[in-house]
Amino acid sequence: MDYEGLLIIIGYSLGIFAVSFIGGRLAVLGSITHTRIQILMSLVAGFILGIAMYHLFPHSLERITGPGNVEKAVAWVVFGMILMIFLLRVFHFHQHDFSTEAGELYDHHDHGEAGGHSGSLVGVAMGLGVHTVTEGVALGTSMRVSSPHEDGGALPALGVFLAILLHKPLDAYSIIGMMKFAGHGARARTVANVAFASLCPLVALASFWGVGLLGLDDGSVIGYVLAFAAGAFLCIALSDLLPEIHFHSHDRGKLIVALLVGIGLAYALYFVESSAVHGTQEMHGH
Ligand SMILES: [Zn+2]
Ligand SMILES: [Zn+2]
Repeated sequence: MDYEGLLIIIGYSLGIFAVSFIGGRLAVLGSITHTRIQILMSLVAGFILGIAMYHLFPHSLERITGPGNVEKAVAWVVFGMILMIFLLRVFHFHQHDFSTEAGELYDHHDHGEAGGHSGSLVGVAMGLGVHTVTEGVALGTSMRVSSPHEDGGALPALGVFLAILLHKPLDAYSIIGMMKFAGHGARARTVANVAFASLCPLVALASFWGVGLLGLDDGSVIGYVLAFAAGAFLCIALSDLLPEIHFHSHDRGKLIVALLVGIGLAYALYFVESSAVHGTQEMHGH
């Protein structure tokens, strides 16, 4: 039993639960201005994009071996993207911006009708649920890819953990914000907030444990899961970025900088991770 890994993933889980819960509380207290939430979303989307490309995808290629491994990995990336696009199409669950300015700017939408909001709430909950399960599986599985010893100084799956940690408050903010618009009471919102905050940690722990239990640590199954998660993460990042790009032209400079900072942070983390691996390999060599 990998107690060190278990301890780390429990720590990650508590962190994700806490920030998700706080994100949900913020939606109740009041809405953030449109520009601020867009800058935050660009930063976080850049980070998620970087984690998908610099962490999840390379790790999946390491795991999938044999002839045609790149094709297999790419197929699972595409599969992850298709599933997320399908969920976004069906459930429209990934709208984070609940500021009044956003409502006015998207005035071609029939916003403001509480009935419409409550009708789609089940869909949003389902979409966000599947999306969160994907993140939990990605975290639990990534923990198995890099054991603390392999990675030297860096914690295992740190990049994936940070991507989820930064993104989860936005998701919680969305679902609780929607409940508020739909006129749900404080008690129902708190129950939903706690349930939503628990989902990702529970799935992460279950998949971490499941991978160990089924003895998948060394197989290529982890590789396929990571490639699938890379596709899903990529799609989530783009779904946060593209609507704003299509419909608004304000604060372009700030939003581009926020995106580049997000991608830069993910790359920097990749750099730290790989130099830590390189460092320990050198140590073993001497
Ligand atoms: Zn999300
Ligand atoms: Zn805007």
